[in-house]
Amino acid sequence: MTTTAVADLLVVGAGVAGLTAAVAAADAGLTVTVLFKPSTGSAPSTSTAYAQGGIAVVDPSDPDDSIDRHVADTVGAGGPLVDVVATRSILADGPAAVDRLISWGAAFDRRPDGRLKRTREGGHTVSRIIHAGGDATGAEVQRALTAAAKTRPTLTARPAQAYALLADGDRVVGVRTAEGDAFGRTVLLATGGAGHLFSSTTNPLGATGDGIALAEAAGADVRELEFVQFHPTMLYTPGARGRRPLISEAVRGEGAHLVDANGDAVMDGVHPMGDLAPRDVVARAVTDAMERTAAPCVYLDATMIPDVADRFPTVTEAVRAAGLDPQTDLIPVVPGAHYLCGGVVTDLHGATGVPGLYAAGEVARTGLHGANRLASNSLLEALVMGLRVATAAQTAPALPGGPVREIAPPHARAERDALQDAMTRSCGVRRTVDGLFGLTALLADPAFVADAPAVSSRDREDAVLTAVARRMAGQALARQESVTEVVEVRP
Ligand SMILES: Cc1cc2nc3c(=O)[nH]c(=O)nc-3n(C[C@H](O)[C@H](O)[C@H](O)COP(=O)(O)OP(=O)(O)OC[C@H]3O[C@@H](n4cnc5c(N)ncnc54)[C@H](O)[C@@H]3O)c2cc1C
Repeated sequence: MTTTAVADLLVVGAGVAGLTAAVAAADAGLTVTVLFKPSTGSAPSTSTAYAQGGIAVVDPSDPDDSIDRHVADTVGAGGPLVDVVATRSILADGPAAVDRLISWGAAFDRRPDGRLKRTREGGHTVSRIIHAGGDATGAEVQRALTAAAKTRPTLTARPAQAYALLADGDRVVGVRTAEGDAFGRTVLLATGGAGHLFSSTTNPLGATGDGIALAEAAGADVRELEFVQFHPTMLYTPGARGRRPLISEAVRGEGAHLVDANGDAVMDGVHPMGDLAPRDVVARAVTDAMERTAAPCVYLDATMIPDVADRFPTVTEAVRAAGLDPQTDLIPVVPGAHYLCGGVVTDLHGATGVPGLYAAGEVARTGLHGANRLASNSLLEALVMGLRVATAAQTAPALPGGPVREIAPPHARAERDALQDAMTRSCGVRRTVDGLFGLTALLADPAFVADAPAVSSRDREDAVLTAVARRMAGQALARQESVTEVVEVRP
């Protein structure tokens, strides 16, 4: 085992949140260490790289849009649990954060007059979503941040899976990995989401909720895990499990609509915003339509979009790989686990309440998303909060220099496919009290969950998944009401 020097900022995660914090901190003169999970094969290992639709950000020169309007749309989607003060603060910093990203080399799609192109997605009342490469926004954000990180001399990044935190007294000072310990005056968890709690998801393989389990083990407040956003249009392939391609909501923003197996419009009479209703509403309507027609999927009709392949190259590639052409064929889709709205509670600087420990990006719960994230608000949140953590790290005190102790999630773990199937059955789009009682009992049953020490990195992920599943099921059971259905949607 090797022990590295103490960095000013230790970042766990190399997606948009982690790398934004890392690059900004390096630009402020700090030393930075970034750790990330090794990728499997050539598939990207961050959700960031897969993001399609774009970044929701107000154009300050647009008379039809304003921060107030963006806040109102965010509350319209997320419901009463959205923290309006936090939301206003984060969204107001959005335009400057995007400018910073552009200054680091990110190239977004532009109109002939040079202004950024903007589109609409579900829940937005104006076109404010900027995008890159048509529907390859995340790939461009990841490329630009990775390239920027490589040019910062005080920043080093290496693959290593953090499986425990290290604390000196009550202060978190580092993480433990199989390759050695890493220390930082500030420790940032930027580990992304937990889509692999479910049998099929849009998330990359490493999205197993590690940061949540680590922070919870250290005593951080972990809240609103029950609010998992199921994206209504994940590409359906019979029998497939694990990561599945997403059909971006921006496709519906350009005019596509959902039809059931009988050809009837899925969203007719369901919601005033029709196919662009908030995601939870559309995901429930899709589930209803599948049950009504006894079909395994519904269909997205994008045939009316002119040059769909040019506007949505990523989607087109995925659909073609399934043997279909989006210009002429209906695209089979189902809801899939997509985004974790809750997570590790932070303040508006990214601090968790555990000394030394910060969280940003999908792992964090700032109050922006409430019960249902507004489309394309997450990249923006990760950018803004990443920048804020970089600022906070500049005033962190030196480490105390005492002995360190390891803080790790419990060993207990369930076999992954069985865990995912149980979560999908009982904690998916539709939940019942009986189903959730059954799930919590199963997750407490020693015949289902073995208490065995983790040896491999896969074991450690399974332990994390089990810990987060237990927490999520408990919080879902405690939440008896459906939060977003009661929200009045403005015209
Ligand atoms: C298919 C898809 C499309 C999306 N489209 C959009 C969109 O258009 N607009 C939008 O705003 N949002 C979108 N989202 C959501 C958005 O992409 C994510 O919420 C965001 O990218 C999360 O960024 P992050 O930095 O928090 O995490 P990620 O980008 O997921 O990065 C997590 C990092 O943490 C590392 N990590 C995890 N655990 C450990 C560990 N134990 N040790 C070391 N490293 C670890 C991973 O290796 C990775 O480097 C989309 C998501 C998906 C999956």
